[in-house]
Amino acid sequence: MAPKKFMALSKYPDIDVTIYEAAKEFSEVGAGIGVWPRVWKILAHLGLDEDLARITAVKPSYNECDTFIFRKSDQPEGHDFYKLQTQGTFLRYHRPDVLEVLIKHLPPHYKTHFSRRLNSYTQTSSGNIELFFYDGTVETCNLLIGADGIKSAVRRSLLSEQAKKAASTGRLKEADQLLRSIEPKWTGIVAYRALIPTDRLTAYRDAHPEQNIRYMGQNVNVVVYPISSGSLINIGAFHAREELAGTPFQGPWVTNVEKDELLAVHADWEPELQAILQCIDKPSRWAVHTSHPLRSWVSGNVTILGDAAHAMSPQQASGAGQAIEDAFILATLLGHRLTRLENINQALSIYDNIRRPVATEVAERSLVNGRLFGLQLPGVDADKDTERLPEIGDAIKENWKWTWSTTLDASIRDAVQMLENANISRAYL
Ligand SMILES: Cc1cc2nc3c(=O)[nH]c(=O)nc-3n(C[C@H](O)[C@H](O)[C@H](O)COP(=O)(O)OP(=O)(O)OC[C@H]3O[C@@H](n4cnc5c(N)ncnc54)[C@H](O)[C@@H]3O)c2cc1C
Repeated sequence: MAPKKFMALSKYPDIDVTIYEAAKEFSEVGAGIGVWPRVWKILAHLGLDEDLARITAVKPSYNECDTFIFRKSDQPEGHDFYKLQTQGTFLRYHRPDVLEVLIKHLPPHYKTHFSRRLNSYTQTSSGNIELFFYDGTVETCNLLIGADGIKSAVRRSLLSEQAKKAASTGRLKEADQLLRSIEPKWTGIVAYRALIPTDRLTAYRDAHPEQNIRYMGQNVNVVVYPISSGSLINIGAFHAREELAGTPFQGPWVTNVEKDELLAVHADWEPELQAILQCIDKPSRWAVHTSHPLRSWVSGNVTILGDAAHAMSPQQASGAGQAIEDAFILATLLGHRLTRLENINQALSIYDNIRRPVATEVAERSLVNGRLFGLQLPGVDADKDTERLPEIGDAIKENWKWTWSTTLDASIRDAVQMLENANISRAYL
């Protein structure tokens, strides 16, 4: 969803933005996406809320609401064990609908070049950056923001550059570590994704498709929620094998599979879940990869954001939200009156200091959520201690509540303060 990252800069007309996109057009793969109140506040600040509110069935609110039902389902008879209440709505969308809104709001003066896949970049000490594309073309710029996803070419060049610098000063172990951090790693999780027309599902079972439900079992969870103003149901079935985390995934990361594969892996589950899966036509299977946490997202006048910087497991529904937070803080710093081309590295360094620890923590929380959704809580045997299942619900709520109980405001204040302090100290030098 590339455009989400460029909107934040649109408030600053003196920044000349050119977007290079590898695809033929902006497009979105995948099905549903959820937006938490913390991110909604940023989207509202960017003026996207009205259009985004129009394309979701649930109206945005900051009031307390019922957000998910957690249900134990890996058995012949399932049962609800927890109602997750949140302060504010978890808004659910069909990804292409969101993309359409974002494209509509892209400032017309931005230059966008499609079918331009970046291969690598080099930069001189004076801050001039040369961009090398697979089609053989070369462009130049004086600030490069790599928002190019989990397989980021900018990340690759940036880490190679950092490694070269480390090696040149004898820090060989660090150089080696940097190079090893380029490739994403497999989490041991595969996610089956699919969409079902709501009519088909309601005809099939007497349930409540307007609800968000997480069907949970040992190391597996299936999230089900309506999107597209209720006309479609989004399904995500996550299967975790933690012992495989860090091993190479064999085969393509995303592939279409037969419905039978999905049915087979839930063969012992309750009929309600089976009925939902029966309604699926074409599931796809995604090998969930994450990126290695880094010690810096900056090299000279180059930085990274979103999945390029911190691809995370999707179990906090926060990867895109974190990309939006990155973009907002970065744009605030770049657009600040004290930032000029000569001191741009200062803005990048503050962005890095503010955002990296937050995104790294969210990535860790996502893995914790994944374990809890798979009913793994030390000391609790989910099959035997059923009366203790609500403890798992409480642990999930505790781990997730930052998404509705905090805002980005403090980070924005800190970032601006750091920038202003740095410039005051410089003035006295
Ligand atoms: C199953 C699943 C469910 C998820 N659910 C949620 C959710 O509910 N909420 C949430 O917030 N997040 C969710 N996420 C995470 C979210 O999808 C990602 O974190 C988000 O899409 C990352 O955005 P990005 O812009 O950084 O990268 P991407 O969306 O990957 O965009 C990268 C862009 O860069 C382009 N590109 C790539 N390489 C190059 C190159 N070399 N040159 C030029 N262009 C290039 C691509 O074509 C693409 O347009 C989920 C992820 C998964 C897998």
